[in-house]
Amino acid sequence: MTTVDTHCPYCALQCGMAIGAEGTEITITPRADVPANAGGALCQKGWTAAELLTNGERLTGPLLHGNPVSWEEALDHVAARLIALRDEHGPDAVAVFGGGGLTNEKAYLLGKLARVALGTSQIDYNGRFCMSSAAAASIRAFGMDRGMPFPVTDLAGADVVLLAGANPAETMPPFVRHLEGARLVVIDPRRTATARLALLHLRPAPGTDLALALGLLHLAVAEDLVDASYVAARTTGFEAVRTSLASWWPERVERVTGVPVQRMREAVRALAFARNAYVLTGRGAEQHAKGTDTVSAFVNLALALGLPGRPGSGYGCLTGQGNGQGGREHGQKADQLPGYRRIDDPAAREHVAGVWGVRPEDLPGPGRSAYELLDALGTPGGPRAMLLFGSNPVVSAPDSSRIAARLRALDLLVVCDVVMSETAALADVVLPVTQWAEETGTMTNLEGRVLLRRRALAPPPGVRGDLEVIAGLARRLGHDFADDPAEVFEELRRASAGGTADYAGITYERIAGETGVFWPCPEPGHAGTPRPFLDSFPTPDGRARFVPVEHRPPAEEVDDDYPVHLTTGRVLAHYQSGAQTRRIASLTAASPHPYVELHPDLAERLAIEAGDLVRVTSRRGTDEAVARISDAIRSDTVFMPFHWEGANRLTNPALDPASRMPEFKVCAVRVERVS
Ligand code: SF4
Repeated sequence: MTTVDTHCPYCALQCGMAIGAEGTEITITPRADVPANAGGALCQKGWTAAELLTNGERLTGPLLHGNPVSWEEALDHVAARLIALRDEHGPDAVAVFGGGGLTNEKAYLLGKLARVALGTSQIDYNGRFCMSSAAAASIRAFGMDRGMPFPVTDLAGADVVLLAGANPAETMPPFVRHLEGARLVVIDPRRTATARLALLHLRPAPGTDLALALGLLHLAVAEDLVDASYVAARTTGFEAVRTSLASWWPERVERVTGVPVQRMREAVRALAFARNAYVLTGRGAEQHAKGTDTVSAFVNLALALGLPGRPGSGYGCLTGQGNGQGGREHGQKADQLPGYRRIDDPAAREHVAGVWGVRPEDLPGPGRSAYELLDALGTPGGPRAMLLFGSNPVVSAPDSSRIAARLRALDLLVVCDVVMSETAALADVVLPVTQWAEETGTMTNLEGRVLLRRRALAPPPGVRGDLEVIAGLARRLGHDFADDPAEVFEELRRASAGGTADYAGITYERIAGETGVFWPCPEPGHAGTPRPFLDSFPTPDGRARFVPVEHRPPAEEVDDDYPVHLTTGRVLAHYQSGAQTRRIASLTAASPHPYVELHPDLAERLAIEAGDLVRVTSRRGTDEAVARISDAIRSDTVFMPFHWEGANRLTNPALDPASRMPEFKVCAVRVERVS
C-alpha cells in the first residue's frame, strides 16, 4: 500500500499523518517527522479521521432548494441571483463568510472573490469567534500576531508553564507531551483534564481572569520579582501599568475572583523563579467582551517577568482551529488584506491591488465583524445574500437562534460543505466540496509553521474543490481566477510579499523538504523565522509595549432570575460545531450527547440527580441536556460543551470593543429539572 504524507483535518496542532488507501481500506499512521506530534502521537479524533472519508452522510451533488441539480445549473443560478441582488441593492448586499479550517489558498481566494469579483466589503469568518482577542492583544503588545512565536518543541525546556483558560489535555492531547518537563500552573474555573496535571490550579469565577492577571502582576511588583533590566531594555510603558495596578491589591483580587492570595503568590513565584517559563492563553481567557484586555494583562505579566523574546521562554496563544493562524492572515477577515495587511492602509491596498490587477480605489473598505455581519443578514440595509464556506454558525454563533432567524431571512443562502450541517440545512443552494485528504493546500499551524496538506485520494464523484467553486463563480461574474492550489499559492506569495505574514520565500517544495517553514519568510533563500522576537519586536522602536488595562464585570451578571454562571467548552471526542466528529461512530459512542455539568451542592439545591434531563435558560433562549454531577465545576457555575446545537442559544453576543469577540465564556442562566 502506498502512503501519502499529510496532516490531520482538525485542530491547530496539525499533527502529521500518512494516509494509505487500498480498495476500500484507508489507513492512518502518525508521522514521527512532524514536531507537533511529539514523536508520532495522535488523539482519538486524528486516529478516526479516515471515517470522514467514507462517511455515508457525505454530500455528493449540488442541491437547489433541496432538489439535485447539475453543477452548471447550481453555479449559474447562484451567479445570476448574486448579480441581480447586487444590481438592485449594491455590492454590500452580498456577504461572504469563511472559516478557520480553510486552507490558506481558500482563505486567500475567498477574500479576492469578495473584494474583486463581488466588490463587497461584507466578508468575515468564524475565526473571529476563536483567536481574535489574542490576536488583537499580540498586535498591540508585540506589533505582530503569530500565535506562538516559537516552535512547540521549545516548551520541552520550560520549568514552568502557565496555562490561562486552555485545556490541551482534551483539545489537543499530543501537545501535552511537550509540557512533560514543566510544572504547570492552570487557570480555569473547572478542574479539567489539564488542571489535574497541574502543580497549581487557580479557579477564578467565570469572567474574572482579567482581575486575576492584574493581581498576579501586582504581586510580582510588590515582591520585587519584575525583571527590571529586561523591562528597561526591551519594553515601553511599564510605569503606566505599574500605576494602574495600585487598586488591584491581592485581597481585593481574592474577593473578585475567589482565588486565595496564597495560591496567587505561589503562582507568581513559580513563574518568576523558573529558569525558563511560558505564559499561554486559550479561549477560556479570550472569549469575553473584555478578552483583548484579559490577554493584554497576561502579556503584561509575561513582559514584567522578562519572558517574551527570550530563548526558552515566552508568551503564546494556543490557536484552536486547524488553520486558525493562516486563516487570519490572508484576507477573509473584514479588516484585512493578504499578508496580514490592514485594508485601511493605502500602501497595503496599492500592493494587493497591483497583484490583483485592479485599482486600489476599487477595493472596498473594512466591513462588519462576524457576529455583526450575521446579525445584519436580511435586515434593512444589511446583506441579502451570503456565500458561506467551512462554517456552521447555526451551532457555533452566540445567540444562535437569533442567527438562524437572520440566515432564514436572506434572499439567498449558499453553503459549501462536506455534509448537511445545521447551517447547510437552511440553505437555498448547497454545494458539496472536497475535504482534507482529497485536496492539496497549505495550513499554518499554531506555531506559525506553514505546512502542506497533500491530496491522498480522489474525492467521490459529484464533488468539487472550494477553489473550483470560487473560481467558477468568479468566472460567471466576469473574472478569471486560478483554481489550482499550487497556482493560487504562487499568487498568495506575491500578494503577501512585504506584509507582516510574508510567505514570499515559501514554496510547496520547501515545505515538503523541510517539514514546514515558519513565516515571515520574505525570499527564497531565507530560512524562515521560528522565533521572530529574539532580537527585537516588530514595533516602530523594536520594543514590546505594556498596555494598561482595567478589570470590569462580565457583560451579564447573575441575578435572582438567572442566578448561575454558564461557561462552555470542548470535550475530547469532538471538534468545534461537531459537523464532522458527530458523524464518526467511535467518537459519538465516546461522547454521544450534550450534557450540563453541575456541582453536587448546586444539584442538591435544585433537586437534580445525575442523568436527569435539565433545562438551562438564559435571557436569549433555552436548551435541554442530561445532568452530570461533578465537583470539577464551581458550585456557582454550570458547564456545557458547545459541539451540539443548543448551548449557543444561551450564550451572550456582547462584543469585545477591540477584537469584536463575543462573550462565549460567561453568561447568566437558570437551571431546572425537566419534570
Ligand atoms: Fe488532530 Fe489536533 Fe488530535 Fe492532533 S491533536 S490528532 S491535530 S485533532
